[in-house]
Amino acid sequence: MHSNSVNPLLIDTPFTEWQFEGLPSYRVEQIREWIFEKGILAFKDMTNLPGGLRQELGQKYDLTPMETAWEQGSADTTQKFLWKLRDEQFIESVLIPATEGTKGVRASRLTLCVSTQVGCALGCKFCASGLDGLKRNLTTGEIVGQVILARRKAGKRIDNLVFMGMGEPLANLPALIPALDIILDAKGLGIGARHITLSTSGLVPKILELAKYPAQIRLAISLHGGNDQTREKIMPINKRYPINELLDACEKFIEARKKMITLEYILIKGVNDDLNQANLLAKHALRLNAKVNLIPYNKVEGLGWERPEISRIKAFKSQVERKKGTRVTLRMEKGHDIEAACGQLRLRETVKKINC
Ligand code: SAH
Ligand code: SF4
Repeated sequence: MHSNSVNPLLIDTPFTEWQFEGLPSYRVEQIREWIFEKGILAFKDMTNLPGGLRQELGQKYDLTPMETAWEQGSADTTQKFLWKLRDEQFIESVLIPATEGTKGVRASRLTLCVSTQVGCALGCKFCASGLDGLKRNLTTGEIVGQVILARRKAGKRIDNLVFMGMGEPLANLPALIPALDIILDAKGLGIGARHITLSTSGLVPKILELAKYPAQIRLAISLHGGNDQTREKIMPINKRYPINELLDACEKFIEARKKMITLEYILIKGVNDDLNQANLLAKHALRLNAKVNLIPYNKVEGLGWERPEISRIKAFKSQVERKKGTRVTLRMEKGHDIEAACGQLRLRETVKKINC
């Protein structure tokens, strides 16, 4: 699959399954520490291993899943990374700092938005990731590698992960589940399940499959329409799994292990921003006891969709809140800069290539 390299990528295999011929277990443990605790992705830098071993391992395995193609931002703002994979495909991750907590005990936290596929097969009409279809799934090491590399760039631990970058996480469960195991493991990246959110466009059978996963990870559903007629206009997946089936699957997911669900709703001018949709959204949220995240649409170059006026956005939010018990947050760019996390960086890279 990777044209540039003949070696297997070591972190595609969970460290619990590593087999290095004849290597004592304390050496394997040293390698694990270098990679997962220190974020070192080159055998030559593992200074407590004998030189000969470093060379031998370096000839057998690749350690770096990708290199930085482009980056923007600094430690106290949103940082965007465009990564070039070993087969010269591009993916992106976004690092978002935010202050969390209540008065007095406020702490600065880092959230990383992670990609799971190169492109996406689901073709939501508003989204940059799906414009060119699916190129391929990411491997386990390419998913985990985004966290290791972004953590190294940030110089501090990453508190939260959201799988809201490029691709549909639930369409890549065979690579994602082992990646989650590594991310959750205290000897891996040690990020707690409640700090991990997967976002899905609503692949019903996969939601049911994920419900069986033992950890209490969170799920965000990209609803974007209160009824089938509206949702279908922008999300072709709704023809396969209409809203009622989706909500039934969500109920089962929540029941399975008291897992939490958020409903995401991007607001697109004249498409899904009428107050009737707000009423339906409130009804669905109350049924699932789910939080609602309203996200004003980020314009994608080449697509005709627009963000509603701010007054319309506020009216929509108030309408949802009119139903007693709803919990709604409105995310403008600051705080959760999704703009770069939805295939838009890669799109820019592709456009540049075409123009050159
Ligand atoms: N495939 C998954 C996760 C990746 S997309 C999903 O669809 O949920 C992450 C979120 O970004 C989704 O809610 C998606 O609808 C939203 N999104 C995509 N393009 C966007 C844009 N241009 N502006 C705002 N949100 C967008
Ligand atoms: Fe794929 Fe999600 Fe974009 Fe839809 S919104 S095309 S599912 S990445």
